[in-house]
Amino acid sequence: MNRPHRWKLVLLAVLCIFVAPRVKADGETPPGRDAKQPIDEAYTAKMKKYTTEPFFTSPLVNYLPASKSVPTPEVVLGDVAGAPGILPYAEDVYKYMRLLEKTSPRVKVFSIGTTEEGREMITVAVSSEENLKKLEENRAKLAKLADPRTLQLNDAEADKIVAQAVPVYYITGTIHSPETGAPTALMELTYRLAVDESPYVKEIRDGMITLITPVVEVDGRDRMVDIYKWHLAHPKDFYPPLVYWGKYVAHDNNRDAMGVTLKLTENVLNTYVQWNAQVLHDLHESVPYLYDNTIGDGPYNAWIDPILADEWQMIGTRNVAEMTKFGMPGVFAHGDFDTWSPGYLMFIAAMHNGISRLYETFGNGGADTLERTLDPEEYARTWYKQNPPLPKVMWSQRDNNNYEETGLLVSLQYFNENKRMFLKNFYLKAKRSVEKPKAEGPAAYVLPADETRPTLQLELLKVLEKQHVEISRTTSAVTVALPLKKEKKQDKSGEKKEAKKDEKPQPTTQSFPAGSYVIRMDQPYSRIADALLDHQYWSPEDPQKTPYDDTGWTFGELYGVQVARVTDAKILQAPMERVAELRVPGGLKGEGTIFAIENHAEPALASLRYKLKDADMQAAEEGFESAGKKFAAGTILVKSADHAKLDAATKELGLQTTAVSVAPSVKTHPLRAARILLLHTWLSTQTEGWWRLTLDKLQIPYDYVSTQTIAKSADLRDKYDVILFPPVGWGGSLNNIVNGTPTSWGNPLPWQNTPETPNLVGKNDSTDDMRPGLGWDGVAKLQKFVSDGGVLLTVMDTAQFAAGIGVTGGVSVSNSEKMKIVGSVVGTKLVDGASPIAYGYSEKVAAYCDNGPIFSLSSIAGSRRRRRLGPEMGARPTGRGTKDDPDFAVGRVGVEAPDEPELEIWENPNVTDEQRHNNPRVIPPAMRARVVLRYADSKDLLISGLVEGAGEIAQHPAVVDAPFGKGHVVMFSINPVWRGETQGTYSLLLNTVMNFDSLNAGRKDEEK
Ligand SMILES: [Zn+2]
Repeated sequence: MNRPHRWKLVLLAVLCIFVAPRVKADGETPPGRDAKQPIDEAYTAKMKKYTTEPFFTSPLVNYLPASKSVPTPEVVLGDVAGAPGILPYAEDVYKYMRLLEKTSPRVKVFSIGTTEEGREMITVAVSSEENLKKLEENRAKLAKLADPRTLQLNDAEADKIVAQAVPVYYITGTIHSPETGAPTALMELTYRLAVDESPYVKEIRDGMITLITPVVEVDGRDRMVDIYKWHLAHPKDFYPPLVYWGKYVAHDNNRDAMGVTLKLTENVLNTYVQWNAQVLHDLHESVPYLYDNTIGDGPYNAWIDPILADEWQMIGTRNVAEMTKFGMPGVFAHGDFDTWSPGYLMFIAAMHNGISRLYETFGNGGADTLERTLDPEEYARTWYKQNPPLPKVMWSQRDNNNYEETGLLVSLQYFNENKRMFLKNFYLKAKRSVEKPKAEGPAAYVLPADETRPTLQLELLKVLEKQHVEISRTTSAVTVALPLKKEKKQDKSGEKKEAKKDEKPQPTTQSFPAGSYVIRMDQPYSRIADALLDHQYWSPEDPQKTPYDDTGWTFGELYGVQVARVTDAKILQAPMERVAELRVPGGLKGEGTIFAIENHAEPALASLRYKLKDADMQAAEEGFESAGKKFAAGTILVKSADHAKLDAATKELGLQTTAVSVAPSVKTHPLRAARILLLHTWLSTQTEGWWRLTLDKLQIPYDYVSTQTIAKSADLRDKYDVILFPPVGWGGSLNNIVNGTPTSWGNPLPWQNTPETPNLVGKNDSTDDMRPGLGWDGVAKLQKFVSDGGVLLTVMDTAQFAAGIGVTGGVSVSNSEKMKIVGSVVGTKLVDGASPIAYGYSEKVAAYCDNGPIFSLSSIAGSRRRRRLGPEMGARPTGRGTKDDPDFAVGRVGVEAPDEPELEIWENPNVTDEQRHNNPRVIPPAMRARVVLRYADSKDLLISGLVEGAGEIAQHPAVVDAPFGKGHVVMFSINPVWRGETQGTYSLLLNTVMNFDSLNAGRKDEEK
């Protein structure tokens, strides 16, 4: 060791006065630079300059090591990472990562797929040269831990691998486009991990592989950079809000880890699984200054391994402790994020035997340095936030990068120090997943071969396949025992006991035909299948009163297909084969000129309608029999179609057809490939984005048009048959839809491609000013469209809008303060199966509901349904006789009151003679709203999730067809199209589209 110069000793002594020496525990590696490695003085000076407070950095990132061969981020950025005014496009980030790959043997870049708009996604591996040379060898070792069946579940064998394998820690940045700091932080972090010779960083580099996807939402990142550039060019103006992120959705891109409908989810999931990573750590920006929400709050997801909950605690608390010791304020690990829904990107790890992690750091939505003032609850000191953020500070993107990099380095170092334990845990979690049938169960889920909706069954199986779940298929019939249901405690009155006598005995076994699909729970990724297929229950008594996201998601229910949860382990012994390729047979069967296709509410039917645009297709309005086979109402009859084309299309779509020799004598009406306009606002495009994604996947064409454009379209009905107006979501009030954003002040907010903003529009819509809304002209155009025979389909807030502009006849819409249905699966019941909207549905339909709204019917235009207060009217007053006797007036002959018909909550109320007298507002029966589906009774409303105050919405209409002029306004209180998870209710919308000019089919209008 060299003897230090005297002046250095003096300096050290001076420093020691101000900086408490850090005493590390045995074996711990101190943070901080290697004195022998020179630093990049200029870069370091700039980092210091852009850091707004001395305590917004740490000994891990307050210097940048110098390298003779490896370039710093400055070569691409033109300044240091986190510098004000600098926000790189994904392309620039990739350019830098590839420069690192070129100049350092410690960095490798991999392409992991493309986005919906064709942009590349990458992942960057950074580790020692030796580790990167042995990537494949190491991958094979990790694969054995990931699938303990390859080790015959032998712990001793696993230990041998645990002792040698190099773990993988996967970091993902910028899934949320306005959260802008991660890419530069990750560029600099990659540089540090490749170059820094400090013991702290060297240990990380030698001990593990850090995998980095610097930009997850690549399409949205490029739009965000565009907006920021526009802002820099127009510094005094308001800049347009980021109304589109990816092609389809915005913030919800982080709710796709269940359905895996977006490319970014699929690409990250595949990367995570192929690398057999132990951690997936996703970076966000919304909370000051670093909320490591890995621990979060309850309730925890009920399907995670308790080992994982312990890992969250270990890593999270250590993270807070280390950063607190660095003197960085505002770092905490508990908060209001509950860990219930598995929809978040990071939860890919939690559901695949790894460790999910998430940071919320603080950001300014761009690279401006801004003075930020916090809310009292943000800077309050709480039990879990002993060193809270400051009420008011200058905050820079560099501060953000300091926090992000420090947190990550602390996490990597701790993970590396304990990597043998974490690798062993990785194996144990996988092993316990394989042992599920013997432990908590179930043994398997079965999707029976006699499913009436095979194409929907296929779609559900495809989700499981994307989740890397193994799917098997039985080769012979199998019967399993059903679990015995415990007798419920009996009523004191004994009434229940009486009723029970009449009940049929519960079946004790269940049989599945050969060809049934089996999702075995003795496989490494059983956990995700179990979480998706099981039911959820969120107690109204739960201490958590503000669920962070959806509370229920049961996929079998939302896909409308049969899924049996089998606890009898005998199912695992049934003869079965692994399924290599998922498909459903289809095509023409038999000889004839007319082909019948049964309607079981499969969305593929609508795809067929649009694929064969010129074919004559009819819907049977009643059931019929042909060649000994029974067909239900709604059956599709294809006439005069090109047989070869029909055969090819039905094969591709998996639809079965039956040749019919003579046309059935029942009434039919044409099914149309309606011309669709999908209407959007400039307020928010996220919730309708799921609708666009759905129509695109079904290959159903539509025009995508904004409320502004509608206002200028004179000939809506000439061009379109159906206008779909999906929920607006954020800001979707009548006022906002009509008036938009105020235009009396401020500047126009353009959403257009310009040299400054080349990426904004993509394949979506554009405008020279986002602020104007539909306007009253637009309202008039919509009204005219419907009265001229068009169909306007509205959902949740847009149904409320339709009621507000007076096109929904007797349907009024309200919200409840008391009711709490937070993204739940609820029961609905068919009211009018003759309505074409209901074709293919049976008595009970599970649907996604997020607090309604509540629909009520009135038979008098412009009036609300009477709500009865106090005791039930018509009950007899106090007087002579028994309760059931008529009242008795002395001195005259008794007259019995006329009977009032019984009225159900979902029905059109009867108009009394008194109401009818000279009342032009009474709606003629043929013009009254027709209820297609209603919510189930209170006791049957909850299927999955949280339902509190069910009485408010129980039995109220859920889907209503309201005639207006010659057209219809179809209103949904449920949301039939949500996050790719609700395929069972897609056909409610598709039926509306295909039957748009025959919605009155099967209507019965007699007064009660
Ligand atoms: Zn976020």
